[in-house]
Amino acid sequence: MNALPPSHEKALAALFAAMPADLLLSDGEALERYSRDWSGDHYGRPLAVARPRSTEELSLLMRRFYEQRIHVVPQGGLTGLVGGAVASYPGGEVVVSLERMSKVRSVNPIDFAMVVEAGCILEDAKRQAEAADCILPITFGAQGSCRIGGNVSTNAGGFNVLRYGMSRDLVLGLEVVLADGQVWNGLRTLRKDNRGYDLKQLFIGSEGTLGIVTAAALKLFPKPTQVETALVGLPSVDAAMQLYARARRECSDLLSAFELILRGGIEIALNARDDLHDPLGAAYPVYVLIEASAAGRVDLRGLLEGFLADASDLVLDGVIAGSRAQADRLWLLREMMVEAQGRGGRYLRTDVSVSISSLATFVTDSLDALARALPEAIPVTYGHVGDGNIHLNVVPPETMPPAEFDALFSAAEEVIFDIVDRHGGSISAEHGIGRVKQAAFLKRADPLTLELSRRIKDAFDPKHLLSEGRILASAQGVGNDAEAR
Ligand SMILES: Cc1cc2nc3c(=O)[nH]c(=O)nc-3n(C[C@H](O)[C@H](O)[C@H](O)COP(=O)(O)OP(=O)(O)OC[C@H]3O[C@@H](n4cnc5c(N)ncnc54)[C@H](O)[C@@H]3O)c2cc1C
Repeated sequence: MNALPPSHEKALAALFAAMPADLLLSDGEALERYSRDWSGDHYGRPLAVARPRSTEELSLLMRRFYEQRIHVVPQGGLTGLVGGAVASYPGGEVVVSLERMSKVRSVNPIDFAMVVEAGCILEDAKRQAEAADCILPITFGAQGSCRIGGNVSTNAGGFNVLRYGMSRDLVLGLEVVLADGQVWNGLRTLRKDNRGYDLKQLFIGSEGTLGIVTAAALKLFPKPTQVETALVGLPSVDAAMQLYARARRECSDLLSAFELILRGGIEIALNARDDLHDPLGAAYPVYVLIEASAAGRVDLRGLLEGFLADASDLVLDGVIAGSRAQADRLWLLREMMVEAQGRGGRYLRTDVSVSISSLATFVTDSLDALARALPEAIPVTYGHVGDGNIHLNVVPPETMPPAEFDALFSAAEEVIFDIVDRHGGSISAEHGIGRVKQAAFLKRADPLTLELSRRIKDAFDPKHLLSEGRILASAQGVGNDAEAR
């Protein structure tokens, strides 16, 4: 175990003695596995790692932690991007990993619903939905590692939000273990239920600060029998947004993804893999990856071809994938760009949103302001622009010493967030607040929002033992992670 206050050390030792041997891990090698997140930017060694196999086991553990005032942080697949899932509380935290609660409890193709345990990897849940001729539409690059509990707790979005909504829109019910060990059972697959407050919504997106999700009932949709994918080149972000507005009207709600990538992003992907080639005949300033899908007797290909032919005043060039393999190659450009940006080192991630109608101006204003204030910063711009969500990331120049990164990232974030504020947007459209965005969030949140949020936290976690210091400041102060970004 790590260095602990003596009272905690005794309490944990008593817990280890009372619990089954493999429920709590404390050896150095094991702790290391749960100490660093996907980005590599956040490190925090837990006091111990609890790996419950059932809701009952977790409930029992949480009762003990509550009695002994031991701080706890839930952990899914560690792909969250705001430093929320690694241990960080100054006096130490026990990580609760949901990895052993990974069953799909049921899939019902008539209810179009599935019930999944929180530790189930998103891709596994999607596969089981597909086996029942359905889809679970949460889709994004980390789906092979992230877990359902993490998706619910971060209100994950992804490529298909414009058609199917965020995780919040897809959760029908939840089972949650509270800070004091009580189990809140809201695990229903009802489509309509207006009995009182919708408590499950408080847990969704609350980043583990109000309870530990142990299972979720999720909406499914008919599995599309046709999927068409196109990549088009355009002269500007403004043209891309005009194309989007037309696509919404002309593709009869069959549009399932509309991803913007600026040329710089395509070049990052091309440089990262020798087997990727420039997808169109020439280079264009802006690209959009479009996906439409349908079940039933729709001439989807004809629809997309007709739509793009009519959009020749906006589109400079384009390709429609002729096969699933070609479509996968187009999506690979998008994935490789995300993986390769930052060249394996640190970079500034933002995930802001503005209204769809002001997105083009927002991008132009932000890139201009960055070029003026920080000409050395290398912006990488892409996003789920059908939701007004853009990732305007900043990579440091290759020659910059790492010691100067933090100053560059803070200054760049300030420039970007300032323009978000001017557009009435959000500094976090997807990733959440965690610890990384906490100072920026607290600076902007109005006093009543903060007061109500604190009262909610007090009601669910009166001793402030759960994921303390994420979203809201802890009693110990804001941002206690020196490595956080
Ligand atoms: C390559 C990549 C692409 C991404 N793309 C997108 C994207 O397109 N859209 C998007 O929205 N996000 C995206 N993300 C970030 C996204 O938030 C996470 O990938 C995912 O939702 C987190 O799941 P996880 O299981 O990894 O959670 P973790 O990282 O383990 O945890 C995330 C937060 O949830 C809490 N938590 C985890 N499990 C539970 C639980 N059972 N109960 C209560 N709290 C819990 C943790 O304490 C932490 O605060 C991406 C991340 C990566 C690495």
